[in-house]
Amino acid sequence: MTLVSDWTALAGRTLACCLEIAACTEVPGQITRTFLCPPMHEAHARLDAWAASLGLQTREDAAGNWRATRRSARPGARTLVVGSHLDSVPDAGAYDGVLGVVLGLALLEALGDTPLPYHVELVGFSEEEGVRFGVPFIGSRALVGTAGELLEVTDAGGKTVAQVIAEYGLDVGRLEEARLTGDVLGYLEMHIEQGPVLEAEGRSLGLVEAIAGQSRLDLTFTGKANHAGTTPMGLRRDALTGTSAFVLAAENLARSTPGLVATVGSLTPLPGASNVIPGEVHLTLDIRHARDEVRLGALDQLLTVAEGIARERGLTFSHQLRMEEHATPMNPALTVLLGEAMSAEGQVAVPMVSGAGHDAMLVGQVWPAAMLFLRSPGGLSHHPDEAVLEEDVEAALRVGARFLRLLAEREEAR
Ligand SMILES: [Zn+2]
Repeated sequence: MTLVSDWTALAGRTLACCLEIAACTEVPGQITRTFLCPPMHEAHARLDAWAASLGLQTREDAAGNWRATRRSARPGARTLVVGSHLDSVPDAGAYDGVLGVVLGLALLEALGDTPLPYHVELVGFSEEEGVRFGVPFIGSRALVGTAGELLEVTDAGGKTVAQVIAEYGLDVGRLEEARLTGDVLGYLEMHIEQGPVLEAEGRSLGLVEAIAGQSRLDLTFTGKANHAGTTPMGLRRDALTGTSAFVLAAENLARSTPGLVATVGSLTPLPGASNVIPGEVHLTLDIRHARDEVRLGALDQLLTVAEGIARERGLTFSHQLRMEEHATPMNPALTVLLGEAMSAEGQVAVPMVSGAGHDAMLVGQVWPAAMLFLRSPGGLSHHPDEAVLEEDVEAALRVGARFLRLLAEREEAR
């Protein structure tokens, strides 16, 4: 099926292409590539060059997604979407998102002219990180046809999504054409893990079974600010000591609940002076789990704990939900197939949960999705030192090619 004799060389070229795209940046000396910034043109040109060498037609859709299509000659062929994102956070690494797009091209190269019973639509999403507009997934929303509602959202400078699309040189009036129509058999995303699990377990690749759901809240404990020297310990209503008890309770619950992660990432004691008892504390809570009922149950429990702490300490407690995303299970049948491909290539197919959001969250609500993780050395991501090992890229290519072949057998049997 595959004509590749040198997988290592193909992995090396995949990494080299990621580094070329890393040079397409808004900020010299950093990797920063937000939604439809001018350097995105150069990034697309790098992908175009590789695609042209494979004889593939490419285009930019009206949401700025880079698209390449490999057509099947089979009548009534369905479409497999392979993709990830091309935008980055500020001062990013070279592989978050980009690697999945370039791996898609490398896989198509590995196929050579081997016929497939399905079309392959390779997509480099224009926006996943939510940096410029505070709303993530503009690219994948356009692919599934729900980006229209974001056109009037503004960035920090007051520009709308629609204006940014026009300034980049695209016709926002054709946004509907970005929607992928026809019969889609599934979506495959390859992405770096962005966490330490695979490295800790000594594995190259991970089989994602679900993307965790998450809740983000703003919390406030209110007590009474007073003089730090004259107020005896027994007569204080210290909002920060109450908050501290809550932070540790959140950690304890997460540690004792398999798969649960809970984080207080921001905490502001007021008035914030060394000689004043904190009268009020604003804090955030971010809580995630692969199963919504576990996350929601834990959140209920923590809010009850917070009320209890407030009661005991003469404080008041209030909370506001800022964001909620449901968990997205990957498609069982496609995930089994990806696991078979991993086993066939000598990889251990242990299921894992993605704690971070991905395009597969959006796409997976519409079409069957499967996700393959590559080990992140040092567990590091969203950082200039983000890395990936060539041997892991080679393993992903072998598994990806095997997956395409197993999928072809399944489609031919339909
Ligand atoms: Zn990413």
